Amino acid sequence: MNRPEMKIERLYPSWGQAFSPEKVLFEHQTEHQHLVIFKNQQWGKVMMLDGVVQTTEKDEFIYHEMMTHVPMFSHHNPQKVLIIGGGDGGILREVLKHQSVKHVTQVEIDQAVIDMCIKYLPNHSAGAFTDERVDVVIDDGVNYVSRCSQKFDVIISDSTDPIGPGESLFTSEFYHGVQSCLADDGVFVAQNGVSFMQLDEVITTHKRLSPCFKDVGFYAAAVPTYVGGIMTFAWASQNPTLRQFDLSQLEHKIQQAAIKTQYHTAAIHQASFALPRYILTALGTSV
Ligand code: SAM
Repeated sequence: MNRPEMKIERLYPSWGQAFSPEKVLFEHQTEHQHLVIFKNQQWGKVMMLDGVVQTTEKDEFIYHEMMTHVPMFSHHNPQKVLIIGGGDGGILREVLKHQSVKHVTQVEIDQAVIDMCIKYLPNHSAGAFTDERVDVVIDDGVNYVSRCSQKFDVIISDSTDPIGPGESLFTSEFYHGVQSCLADDGVFVAQNGVSFMQLDEVITTHKRLSPCFKDVGFYAAAVPTYVGGIMTFAWASQNPTLRQFDLSQLEHKIQQAAIKTQYHTAAIHQASFALPRYILTALGTSV
């Protein structure tokens, strides 16, 4: 039996990565994007949207732990959380591990991503979508934050890249909406691309977030299937002290929370804010 054709990620015009699918589990053009989930010998099950790798069973823990536990452990008592995107449920799974969380609203544009990930990538959400603390809203995240009158302690934008439906989640309009529904001592974080390959995304996000927030920065982690080096995460809040923490206090807080992680630790948390010189130079800053 001949193997299905290679799945090639063409995020960049002259360079990419290729996966040999053992089996294509689902492939469909949804109302918003092309969705494919396939099995690969190296990475387990892989989901791509519009030809771009979104998540794999093998390395998802790195991204989902860093997008979630860095803001959640930086906030003194995160009770109300807003997730934008995140249709695979990995962020939701990690957020719900925090005992302080009373309610999570997840705003995802594409119901098909949620449905197919529950079916084919069940360990990503691990039942999180059935948790009584969760409300799922199917909408464009920019519409939701522009109309929202609630205030959230932590807002996590787990979007696709700024092409197609994800584009609206990298706009000044979206960031103004986030500013209006983030609590005074709240934290906003967002997926912000692989800086070595998408440095313009870091520069643009910094420029667009700065008018809305007193403290804007980035932290990073290497996620193997987001090829090209470290993945940067945008950080924004009105309180710069949220990013200044005592390592031993953070270690104690993490120990108290007793949340099982495979990547996030207090030292990794702290070190993730140390950015390479080329990013600092691009941002016109020294720290
Ligand atoms: N970890 C991935 C990454 O770093 O690229 C993101 C994974 S997650 C599957 C991305 C989610 O964002 C998808 O479920 C997609 O449907 C959703 N999405 C894209 N644009 C959106 C928008 N404007 N509003 C809400 N959700 C959106």
